[in-house]
Amino acid sequence: MLIDTHAHLTDEQFGGSREIIADMKADGLERIISVGYDLESSSGSALLAERNEAVYCAVGYHPSEIGRMTDDGLQKLYELSKHEKCVAIGEIGLDYHYPDTNKPVQKSGLEKMLELVESSALPVIFHIREADGDMLKTVKDNINKFKASGVVHCFSGSKETALEYIKLGFYISFTGVISFRNAEKFPEIIKALPKDRILIETDCPYLAPPPHRGEINYPKYVRYQAERIAQILGEDISEVERFTAENAYGLFKKMKRARI
Ligand SMILES: [Zn+2]
Repeated sequence: MLIDTHAHLTDEQFGGSREIIADMKADGLERIISVGYDLESSSGSALLAERNEAVYCAVGYHPSEIGRMTDDGLQKLYELSKHEKCVAIGEIGLDYHYPDTNKPVQKSGLEKMLELVESSALPVIFHIREADGDMLKTVKDNINKFKASGVVHCFSGSKETALEYIKLGFYISFTGVISFRNAEKFPEIIKALPKDRILIETDCPYLAPPPHRGEINYPKYVRYQAERIAQILGEDISEVERFTAENAYGLFKKMKRARI
């Protein structure tokens, strides 16, 4: 059984996600973590988790959204983080991709999010895009705030960067990007990582893997990531399902194991 450790079930393209959640067992999905990127998606994810046993949530402000965070919004995130099904703070981080990026706003917003990480003692889900230098420095400077470690979601950096995060105690998570046509670097990265630090995710509705590229992505497509990693490591897919699920439970400790 598979765990999608990073999905956006609140996205309007999923129309409430009722069917996705109802079909989980048939699709071989054991757990989905619905990840927030602002207040609305964080509280929406908490609500979905409350209503569905197999769904858990993470709460936080994405770096591209954090400029809109109010004091009241921040206060509400603190409350949401105490929800019994909130397993992580995220997605938070730094994203320097767009030319109009406001780095000072992202950095001061991230500082506030790291205070939440520290006080909640939950693991963190990092979104890092074209910002590995600043992010690694931030993690090293604040290492005591990460009481429950964390994951670099949708990893897109170099092998050296991945190994730096591993050294700092973090996990590395892969989306369908590992199967894109220009994804030559991933086999080397995946082979270099300890198996007990690899997670898989979809980041749906974005980043659908082939053969669905360009379409809406769904949590069930996390299977393609397991298949690709199995192929790279020369393992059976059932073994990749086993160890990635084990890793997810190991990191997200508030997530209860499914009774099988
Ligand atoms: Zn995401």
